[in-house]
Amino acid sequence: MPIRLLPQQLINQIAAGEIVERPSSVLKELLENSLDAGATRIDIDVEQGGVRRLKVTDNGCGIPKDELSLALSRHATSKIADYGDLTHVTSLGFRGEALPSIASVSRLRLTSCTDSDSNGWCVEGDGGDHIEPPRPAPHAVGTTVEVRDLFFNVPARRKFLRKERTEFIHMDSLVSRIALSRFDVVLDLRHNQRCIRKYRVARKRQAMEQRLSDVCGSRFVQQSVYIEHSGSGLRLWGWMGLPTFSRSQADLQFFYVNGRMVRDKILIHAVRQAYRDVLFHGRHPAYVLYLEMDPALVDVNAHPSKHEVRFRESRLVHDFLFHTLKKVIADLRPGDAPNQAEHHRRLINENPAASNRQDAGTVNATANQADSQLPLPVSTTSVAQQMGLYRRLAETAAEYVGEEIHALSKGDEANEIPPLGYALAQLHGIYVLAENKRGMVLVDMHAAHERIVYERLKRDFEAQGVRSQPLLVPFGLTVNRSEAEVAEQHREMFESLGFELDRLAPEKLLIRRIPGMLSDADIPQLVHDVLSDLLGQGSSSRINDAINAVFSTMACHGSIRAHRKLTLAEMNSLLRDMEHTERAGQCNHGRPTWVQLGIEQLDKMFKRGQ
Ligand code: ADP
Ligand code: MG
Repeated sequence: MPIRLLPQQLINQIAAGEIVERPSSVLKELLENSLDAGATRIDIDVEQGGVRRLKVTDNGCGIPKDELSLALSRHATSKIADYGDLTHVTSLGFRGEALPSIASVSRLRLTSCTDSDSNGWCVEGDGGDHIEPPRPAPHAVGTTVEVRDLFFNVPARRKFLRKERTEFIHMDSLVSRIALSRFDVVLDLRHNQRCIRKYRVARKRQAMEQRLSDVCGSRFVQQSVYIEHSGSGLRLWGWMGLPTFSRSQADLQFFYVNGRMVRDKILIHAVRQAYRDVLFHGRHPAYVLYLEMDPALVDVNAHPSKHEVRFRESRLVHDFLFHTLKKVIADLRPGDAPNQAEHHRRLINENPAASNRQDAGTVNATANQADSQLPLPVSTTSVAQQMGLYRRLAETAAEYVGEEIHALSKGDEANEIPPLGYALAQLHGIYVLAENKRGMVLVDMHAAHERIVYERLKRDFEAQGVRSQPLLVPFGLTVNRSEAEVAEQHREMFESLGFELDRLAPEKLLIRRIPGMLSDADIPQLVHDVLSDLLGQGSSSRINDAINAVFSTMACHGSIRAHRKLTLAEMNSLLRDMEHTERAGQCNHGRPTWVQLGIEQLDKMFKRGQ
């Protein structure tokens, strides 16, 4: 075949292949256009899974009559004009491809009215190149796009469509993701003339959490903390699921960058790393997070469907996210504030070496866990005061029975009871039973102690560094050229973790020293994996992971075995240790270490006062 230029319609259909996969992808483009037009109300009306008909009406700025036909032409957009605009896109769309692509694979009608028009105008396409001039059509200020018979002229695509119900589920989930991106917009979704969803405007936190609960379920809202943190020109806010609310699938993960929903490798990695220590292997965290930054620092022109973004400073973004979330998780501990009381906590840099790229601002984390676990709001200072009290009590009255210690602390009005209260007894050699202000606390003593020992091992390790050990017979490792280069570039990182690597030849490394702790590990495999992480994503946490795994085993063996009898003083010091320890709410495997049963819950159980 000779080389020739393709006809316009075929060009559009090829573009449609990338953008329009199914009805929900049409809907995504139309909703983004409505949001870009400044709409505050969007009505979505769908028939037969969107294949038969899909109609979106908005109250945005509208399109002037003489631009209507242009809107359906390829590479026509009102959102960018030159390269400068492309480098700081603030709209969701900018490629000028969506409407012509959709029009090339469906029957499309575009009706619009601006506030300077006295009536609306309408243009129609039927999959071909030809578009008749606009004709008058009644319409309020805003735009309606109606797409009928999707893929009527592309049988190959039509075959890939699923059952009406499946296609509708895709659309519903798309609408819910958009709903979480813009709490200030009303969204109304109808399917086959039935009202399916109504998202109202949500300005206050409570209303936002209602919308959140409609999308993610009320359990997520209860089992999450609300966070807000700014630094390094970035702002992060949203809801983080508690580690105990982990999921078997990565299905409750929403991330928005400047209002655009994205699935980005760097972001996903940073979040996963932050949760790494508190999640059981194979479990996934749940979160709804919003990252805001200067649009010039994000390149949104990375993929036609605009799901992917590129950060100018991906390392900075990764570290900001990682350190912020990690800090919040580390600070989740017994005695945290439930959602009734706003609670502000000063961030202390726990690991200055790792987090000096990010200024230690303030993370406001408010636990949303209403009833299930957390006792009364207690500020960090008052915990410290109470610790002082406990220590004095313990010194002078180490042999007192619990009741007496308790009575002493009760008698002194100025001092409150510590968050986890005072131990009363041990149940079956497994649980510690304690009484605090809200009622009763049960602690799984092995799980709790395991976490305490693990955190202590890590702290000591961070303070003292790694003990490196020379290998009697150094390992030779065959790698490729870029792996060898990356190994050389990261020499210092390897050294700080106890490794000494030399490049013997262009494609050969020699491992001379390794961290003593890892003497049983498969070192060549570990080094290989680290190098491929470094090549692929610029960083690697594998060595740290391997070291932490050793700590985890040590903690498990080093912690109180079940069935050991503890004295009351020992039980109380375990409770105080838990209050001091980061991530004390879960054991190393993500199981809860303690539960609270409030007096109201107990009353309910016994049907008291009903
Ligand atoms: P893009 O969104 O990338 O600019 P589209 O093909 O999606 O490209 O839309 C083309 C143009 O049509 C937009 O730039 C915008 O000017 C106009 N447009 C599309 N939908 C709407 C709408 N709902 N309200 C106002 N203008 C719209
Ligand atoms: Mg668009």
